[in-house]
Amino acid sequence: MTTKPAPTTLKKMGLDSPMALALHLPSRYEDETELFTIAEALHQGRFSPTQTQGAVIRNQVLFRPRRQMLVTIEDDTATLQLRFLNFYPSQQKQMAVGSQIRVRGEVREGFQGAEMVHPTVRAVAVDAPLPISLTPVYPASAGVSQAAIRKAVTQGLRDPSLQDSLAEFLPKKLMTQLLPSHDWPSLHSAIAYLHQPPADADTQALLERTHPAWRRVQFEELLAQQISLKRAHAIRQERHAPSFAKLAQKESSLEAGLLKALPFQLTGAQDRVYLEIGSDLSRSFPMNRLLQGDVGSGKTVVAALAAARVLDHGYQAAVMAPTEILAEQHYLKMKEWFEPLGVRIAWLSGGLKAKEKRLAQEMIESGHAQLIIGTHALIQENVHFSKLGLAVIDEQHRFGVRQRLEIQQRLGSELFYCHQLMMSATPIPRTLAMTYYADLDVSVIDELPPGRKPITTKVVKASRRDEVISGLQSWLAKGLQAYWVCPLIEESEVLQLQTAVESFEQLTQALPEFTVGLVHGRLKAEEKAAVMAAFKANEIQLLVATTVIEVGVDVPNAALMVIEHAERFGYAQIHQLRGRVGRGSADSVCILMYAEPLSMAAKERLQTLREVSDGFVIAERDLSLRGPGELLGAKQSGDAMLRFVDLQRDAWLIELAQQAAERLLAEHADLVERHLERWLGSRADFLKA
Ligand code: ADP
Ligand code: MG
Repeated sequence: MTTKPAPTTLKKMGLDSPMALALHLPSRYEDETELFTIAEALHQGRFSPTQTQGAVIRNQVLFRPRRQMLVTIEDDTATLQLRFLNFYPSQQKQMAVGSQIRVRGEVREGFQGAEMVHPTVRAVAVDAPLPISLTPVYPASAGVSQAAIRKAVTQGLRDPSLQDSLAEFLPKKLMTQLLPSHDWPSLHSAIAYLHQPPADADTQALLERTHPAWRRVQFEELLAQQISLKRAHAIRQERHAPSFAKLAQKESSLEAGLLKALPFQLTGAQDRVYLEIGSDLSRSFPMNRLLQGDVGSGKTVVAALAAARVLDHGYQAAVMAPTEILAEQHYLKMKEWFEPLGVRIAWLSGGLKAKEKRLAQEMIESGHAQLIIGTHALIQENVHFSKLGLAVIDEQHRFGVRQRLEIQQRLGSELFYCHQLMMSATPIPRTLAMTYYADLDVSVIDELPPGRKPITTKVVKASRRDEVISGLQSWLAKGLQAYWVCPLIEESEVLQLQTAVESFEQLTQALPEFTVGLVHGRLKAEEKAAVMAAFKANEIQLLVATTVIEVGVDVPNAALMVIEHAERFGYAQIHQLRGRVGRGSADSVCILMYAEPLSMAAKERLQTLREVSDGFVIAERDLSLRGPGELLGAKQSGDAMLRFVDLQRDAWLIELAQQAAERLLAEHADLVERHLERWLGSRADFLKA
């Protein structure tokens, strides 16, 4: 066994400086501060690990039933057998007959009596002293031993540079005013404590990360995050963006024209967010606003009105969506609204032929195209806007982190900064809004357009499939339409397609008097569009689909949705999917079919979905289940930003950190830079994504 630090592997783990090592905090501890006789260990070590010591009196390597090493140790009180199923020659040597070893593990009943399987082993002198602090167990990656990390961390903690990099920045006055009731250690001692807690430390609090030493570290981390978000906000306000006030001669403006041509009245909520966005647009610094609203709440028309304002001023507006289907849906809607008003629209996606792409790029660059709709193809290098005034980004959290960084870089690299409107149907819980999105203004559409009926959700066993199909038949007989959604099979697109085809065939047979259609991800865009058009025209009554219909479908006469293997879908997906129904005047139904056995988590999920229709509540459940990273589609960046803070557990700290950040920025600007460098270093960039 090697105990030498492996510099390259440690480096790969990011442990390349004393500060990085100091902040590599243990995930748990082992108590090696107590030593028991073998007799005591045999007695009490059954359920939790215990430590004992003895001389090796036998060491055998057996080959049956498989290669393994059996070692027996002995002290004055008893003997104990140790079993190793994998072992190195170095361990054989370490545990040769006659050596004194200290072992730690759980005792269990083997075939030949009590034994420890794979205890941790140390060679020691008979009277070797016990450690006085708990032994840290560090997060590690393959190929790095705990011993190597421990050694590196211990060395790192001794490095004189830490005096400076862990120096106390936070003014005492600020701390005592903000946190009068908390007796937190200084940062330096908090970190030292976490690496080597004394034997009598509150291990429960350490493990749960609620110990004052942890609190101190979490607070500092949140503080860094709050400062950097607040700074981003200040920087944005100093930037320049073209200001777009509402035009005075209303009659001739696109904005007024669009509003007049709409076949419906804006809801109160739409009116309100439209005003908020309008007032952002009329300022001379870039808007950075998130428009939140449940599925079907009518975000698109608000975005279209904002775009119309920008076009009125002779600037371009772009609408970008994370998938072709979603982008295409926007394109069709925008065409319907804007073409009658004489607006020139360009479409750009990865799926275009090279020649069409070039044409679109030329239209964008020359300024001929006023409104540009597409996927992230819009931010590729060969796309140059002539005069971009507004970028609308739909479902922005579904873009990858890299793509989001690219979007930010592109939008800020033009001569001026353009206004940005993000849209999302996934509500962001308050804790997240305060941390990840502190530099974002949020508008919420909390009202659905009139006439929407609540959706009744039913949960049904897959064994009742025949009943579901006969129910479907009477539904269709009433002249209504329906969706049949096939399961998501993440491992295999082919398999997913296959099950969709099977269901399609079965349903075609079972429902001969109706036309059944099939739409899936493998179809070409035109083929998909043709099926969707036929469904919209009621030439198809039942649409069998994979999750491609998650977004972008709007057929009011289709008010029934059956979701097969609903247990394989997440909260957000089902919520988005069922948002496709409930758009017309008929009572809407969503049937969640599940196959058994059902995991506890899936059971709870389906139950919640049946009882709750509020997207905010569902998002909160989702958050507690999956953590913020996944919810925001920021798996990578989320980890990088908050390593020690758990937004659920530590929510109460966020507000304190926010207040501290404000005061620090106002009163101690000199400390801010050092604090950020300490905590974020090169990761600060991710905050912008
Ligand atoms: P989402 O917020 O999910 O993106 P959409 O913008 O796609 O929702 O709107 C859903 C449907 O509701 C669309 O067909 C849209 O034209 C329609 N809609 C939007 N606003 C209203 C309104 N105020 N009254 C009636 N229908 C509306
Ligand atoms: Mg939408």
